[in-house]
Amino acid sequence: MPRRPLVAGNWKMNGFIASLAEVAAMATAYDAALKRKVELIICPPATLIGLALEVATQGGVGLGAQDCHLSESGAHTGDISAKMLKDVGASYVIVGHSERRAEHGETDRIVQAKAAAALCAGLTPIVCVGETRAEREAGAALSIVGRQIEGSLPADAPGTIVVAYEPVWAIGTGLTPTPADVAEMHKFAREQIEARLGGGKSESIRILYGGSVKPANAPELMAVENVDGALVGGASLKAIDFMAIAEAYR
Ligand code: PEP
Repeated sequence: MPRRPLVAGNWKMNGFIASLAEVAAMATAYDAALKRKVELIICPPATLIGLALEVATQGGVGLGAQDCHLSESGAHTGDISAKMLKDVGASYVIVGHSERRAEHGETDRIVQAKAAAALCAGLTPIVCVGETRAEREAGAALSIVGRQIEGSLPADAPGTIVVAYEPVWAIGTGLTPTPADVAEMHKFAREQIEARLGGGKSESIRILYGGSVKPANAPELMAVENVDGALVGGASLKAIDFMAIAEAYR
């Protein structure tokens, strides 16, 4: 079975009710021919998921969240569980984004527990991994990503997982790895996913590239072997940019 590409937009801590007009524009531009080629989802702040549901899903655009708690419920003030996200209409949740790892001290163990919680709630986790600039310059990119995959993926996943390779130094900087570096990393990532999950499961797992994906570089990056789509930050805020990235698959 060929892997269906996925282009996911991560709005981070951006967006108000007025921003739902962008979701509406995405849904309108996502025509039947493009739907056959690529799956599209938007991960707005949790405040907007329920509000975006109707306009997004009527147009075939899926919804995801940006994080979840590892527990199902309880005394965790300010947190949101995977089950709650599912309840308001999310079908995906990003876990282990480098901004969560850096700003909230999330370790691989925590990310793995969040991914497991997502799966339990019926969400598909998008598990993020990626090396820092210092790690790449030290020649440690592959070993760091290998360790993150080993530590962050639940071994006995009862459902499907998406992995996003996002070099930290490429996020929001306008810098990207070369297509050859992306190819090397994605091939390696698939081998590591297989080592972790076994049973040929890695063949059906989509590995997204993320980090300064723009309309101009999307065709080249999305054409790299083992790249099954993109996780897009800044360029997902405007329908015109996000849809131009998705067009790489038309
Ligand atoms: C991200 O934060 O997941 C990301 C890829 O950001 P950007 O596209 O802005 O680099």
